[in-house]
Amino acid sequence: MKYAFVALVCKMLTLAGKILGGGTDLPGKIALKMYPQIMKKLSFKGKVIAVTGSNGKTTTSNLIAHIMRESGYKVVNNELGSNMKSGITSALVSAASLSGKVKADYVVLEVDECYSRFIFEDIKVDYYLVLNLLRDQVARNGNPDVVFEKIAEAISKQPDMTLILNANEPISMNLTIPDRTLYFAMERTSRSTDECVSGTHDCKICPRCFHEMKYDFYHYNHLGQFHCSNCDYGTPKADFLGTQIDFDNKKLLINGEAVTIPFDTTFNMFNSIAACAVCSTVGITMEQFRSGIAGFKGAKGRRESFSFEGRTVNLMLTKQNAASLDQSISFVLEQEGDKTILLFVNNVIYLDYKDVSWLYDVAFQRLNGKVKNVVCSGNRALDTAIRLKAAGIPEDVLIYENDITKVKDALRRTEGDIYILAASAFGDEGKIIEELKK
Ligand SMILES: [Zn+2]
Repeated sequence: MKYAFVALVCKMLTLAGKILGGGTDLPGKIALKMYPQIMKKLSFKGKVIAVTGSNGKTTTSNLIAHIMRESGYKVVNNELGSNMKSGITSALVSAASLSGKVKADYVVLEVDECYSRFIFEDIKVDYYLVLNLLRDQVARNGNPDVVFEKIAEAISKQPDMTLILNANEPISMNLTIPDRTLYFAMERTSRSTDECVSGTHDCKICPRCFHEMKYDFYHYNHLGQFHCSNCDYGTPKADFLGTQIDFDNKKLLINGEAVTIPFDTTFNMFNSIAACAVCSTVGITMEQFRSGIAGFKGAKGRRESFSFEGRTVNLMLTKQNAASLDQSISFVLEQEGDKTILLFVNNVIYLDYKDVSWLYDVAFQRLNGKVKNVVCSGNRALDTAIRLKAAGIPEDVLIYENDITKVKDALRRTEGDIYILAASAFGDEGKIIEELKK
């Protein structure tokens, strides 16, 4: 009876939020206040899949849910990315009946890596996809070893759950539990390197025996094909392997089957292989996967191009995360012609974290001699300029401008195609686009 009443309140608030445009966390927050055990009252007809990791969890969970829906299944997911307990409570309780039954074939949940352990106390999870662990918002999360412990604690609460892990990422792969772990991996690509070119490398020693870790190649940061110099810890034979990665034509083979995807980045090649691993494991056919992923629009808007006074402007949304910004820099360096980078950083101000130390984990020194100018903008323009100076970027290459309305003039003093790398928490980069399109 109590469940039905609180669930009704939660459903009404969710509906009101949809109409009035409120947040997706609030209904769950209120429901949890009224009835802290509410999630324990839920029952699931179908399989529950949780997706976590430092990078890619929103795209990958939405991709999995999209493919399942396109294959004709009923799916419940937290597609807007509210991935903590309150957001997940909102999503599940609003989808459940007043008796607490979630009538979906699949429930696909994006789960914050530090909060899985609380969510897993309340609901039974069948599959847990851990995409990767990298240094990310350290002021909030702690380093990857701290996050690893929190995920391991979550796993300990689900004795029957199957793990799906990244065989190219040695930190999270150490979560392996024999006999209930499946692996995905990607072979060497045209963008792989012999040495790590990213700003951070979080796994130079083996997490099992603490001897030196060796890498045959790197995809990015510490992801690649690895083996310990002392014990037998290393990239295993993957259950789902991406090969013949063709970034230009957005194609690859997964376990030998040709797939065309709507992405051309290393991150999203990995996300696609991970999504295939989950879908195949729960019974989606390769044909259904292929046709589902082809129509996925979730990644749209992360990159767009337009013209500014005869120059091409490429907008690239990048997470406030060193690995993500490093990937964007790699992309820019691959492009031909003269280039100017507009680096927009407004930092992680939500949740009160104002730390800019993550900028020191980005390999900005790679820009030296490769770009005409770097324009720093956003409310952390000066912090960003100092970081770039520390990376050895000469002062005559650097321009900083806090005032968005003056960015246009600043760009007029530069040359070449413009690449806007927007590490923005609020979507404020939209204002720059407005100014440039005026
Ligand atoms: Zn070892």
